[in-house]
Amino acid sequence: MNAWPFGVLVNLVAGGDVVILSGAGLSTESGIPDYRGPSGRARRAEPMTYQTFVATAAARQRYWARSHLGWRHVARARPNSGHRAVAELEQAGLLAGTITQNVDGLHQAAGAQQVIELHGSLGRVLCLGCGERTPRPLLDQRLRAANSGWAARAAEITPDGDAVLADDDLAGFRVVDCESCGGVLKPDVVFFGENVPRPRVEQSYRLVERAGALVVLGSSLTVMSGYRFVRHASKLAIPVVIVNQGRTRGDPHAVAAIDAPLGATLSALIARLRPEAAVS
Ligand SMILES: [Zn+2]
Repeated sequence: MNAWPFGVLVNLVAGGDVVILSGAGLSTESGIPDYRGPSGRARRAEPMTYQTFVATAAARQRYWARSHLGWRHVARARPNSGHRAVAELEQAGLLAGTITQNVDGLHQAAGAQQVIELHGSLGRVLCLGCGERTPRPLLDQRLRAANSGWAARAAEITPDGDAVLADDDLAGFRVVDCESCGGVLKPDVVFFGENVPRPRVEQSYRLVERAGALVVLGSSLTVMSGYRFVRHASKLAIPVVIVNQGRTRGDPHAVAAIDAPLGATLSALIARLRPEAAVS
């Protein structure tokens, strides 16, 4: 690890009021693949768009069949040392908050509480009819009951918790509807072709404006929904530090960029800041 950018990270985090912006690269060490990172493979299937999802029952059958298999993988994933380090920084009073692009819930599973889920969470289901939000494990039970004979297997898992299945495997998969109103159920995540809800974006901008520093963890910042906060911080002369494997679109805005594995870097950060409480 290059000593100079790491020292900048340590000093800025020690100063407190840090806002974390995290992406898929933070969760790769938990076994959730990052298709844009160095270990990522080319995306084989096109991601489901909001427009396609709402257009036809066949599209929703395809989505939920894949997601039903992918969910087991996401539900099994556990926070890694990077998530635990972020939770420790929060508990140490050094964070103003965390904005995450991840939909896996692993920040909260590690104990972080001040988390804005920019793209929502796979752990919740939203009814497009009545707006009710319900826990994903409940839907999982209902889908298992409705598809007890359905034995297709996931060939591959995507970061969205969406397994790749052959069309033949989809036949016979039964989708279930909202128990309250019979409406269409959608995972409570922002799909491609859908905007992040405005209040969530505004809340994130306000958080960044109060920050002593913005620390990006595991995002190449290719998507505008995260990159805009880096630009915003830079415009306000709030220092930005980026920890990511590989270059990022935000590097020109950063006072330091650390190209290194997330878990090891954040564990080293904790060890430097709180030698008595280093995470393993
Ligand atoms: Zn409903």
